[in-house]
Amino acid sequence: MAILKIAKLGNPLLRQISAPVTPAEAQDPVFQNFLEDMVETMRKLDGVGLAAPQVFESKQIIVVEANANPRYPNAPDLSLMILLNPTFTYLSEETIEGWEGCLSVDNLRGKVVRSARVGLKAFNRYMEPVEMEAEGFLAVVLQHEIDHLNGKVFLDRMKDFSTLTHLAEFERFWTRDPAEVG
Ligand code: ZN
Repeated sequence: MAILKIAKLGNPLLRQISAPVTPAEAQDPVFQNFLEDMVETMRKLDGVGLAAPQVFESKQIIVVEANANPRYPNAPDLSLMILLNPTFTYLSEETIEGWEGCLSVDNLRGKVVRSARVGLKAFNRYMEPVEMEAEGFLAVVLQHEIDHLNGKVFLDRMKDFSTLTHLAEFERFWTRDPAEVG
């Protein structure tokens, strides 16, 4: 296993539409190892999610997990999910606003409005279909990560930049903000 290098904002790869994973690819042990590397990288860097374009693979893969994360101390626990070719079946009209950060956007947080609930269709790492509903923090993380597969970062989703905050200032002033969802 290996810790993968993170593509940072400005890298054109982060702005591309990523390609779907094929069933043949999912059977490749090299591909399965890559999924393990994504999980290891997310854990090592204290991310609550990671999308393949962030590690220089323009493929529709996301991983999500939250477990006593020092970068997101108020985040609820989320068990590990590895999702291939995820798509939304619905995004609720009801919204929630929360603080977001990104491993590709160093040291910044900003408030983003997201749908409060989503329906999701995807495949697990063995290309078995997965369907789920998510709300709250998980819904936000899924929207953030799937945005990466479509060439979007959380900055694109901010209404304006008035809440854009350096991490040090975020920790100083905003960690008790009720909107601190992740
Ligand atoms: Zn991100």
